[in-house]
Amino acid sequence: MNRHRLVRRALGGVAVWQVEPWLERGIVHGFSERGGGVSLHPFHGLNLGLHVGDDPAHVLENRRRLCQALGVLPEALVAGEQVHGADVAVVTAAHMGRGAQRAADALPGVDALITREAGPVLLGLFADCVPLLLVDPETPAVGLVHAGWRGTCQGIAARAVEAMARAFGTRPRSCEAVLGPSIGPCCYEVGPEVAERFAGWAESPVQAREGRLYLDLWAANRHLLEAAGVPAANIYTAAMCTRCHSDRFFSYRAAGGHTGRMAAVIGLMGPAGAHAQNWL
Ligand SMILES: [Zn+2]
Repeated sequence: MNRHRLVRRALGGVAVWQVEPWLERGIVHGFSERGGGVSLHPFHGLNLGLHVGDDPAHVLENRRRLCQALGVLPEALVAGEQVHGADVAVVTAAHMGRGAQRAADALPGVDALITREAGPVLLGLFADCVPLLLVDPETPAVGLVHAGWRGTCQGIAARAVEAMARAFGTRPRSCEAVLGPSIGPCCYEVGPEVAERFAGWAESPVQAREGRLYLDLWAANRHLLEAAGVPAANIYTAAMCTRCHSDRFFSYRAAGGHTGRMAAVIGLMGPAGAHAQNWL
């Protein structure tokens, strides 16, 4: 066990999972659950995705509740388009609000967002794919990664760390990473065409059990982070499977594809701590 324990906090009717030491350092962040929102079947609960066919008014109300729970303004959110690629956007205050009210103006073509500015709150949307949060406590800077099998295969976690090093001077060895609730190796059965894409990996994240193939996205992303220089001791995996716990989390696989999205968010507070507190 390392020190990055996740704690579940119920904040104003919305449950979020947070990283204890990051709370102490004033990093606004959390992984949401599916309970506590106003969306109806098949999105029932706290669906935060505007792109899945839900009533936008319901999604915006759900986002308002999540933001209120975290103490940030919905207008501060910045989302990427999430195209299952491996491109990274450097986010500044000028991007605040992109993808916050409409999916159409999310930052195009990116699955990872990084920033060193206080103000923008990075938002990613998930239902089985791995939400990965990054903290560089020295700069300080933060990052958010959407890692499904395609992004993982393209090394997106490592690309985000490299982008932080390039853009901010982040030292990977001081980075901390948390992998949030997502589909686990217990449930993530893949076909041979997906397994094949990981064939060249030194440690294969694909396991064969009873004639079936299972992909371990948690191990694969830990491996990518370590290869990018993040110490193993600084990487924490929540190890909560969304499909095993589809009562608590949205799971694309458990729902047969048509379901809501949970959020992962992360942002820096201003030097005076003004970022979150004054907005409550
Ligand atoms: Zn599972």
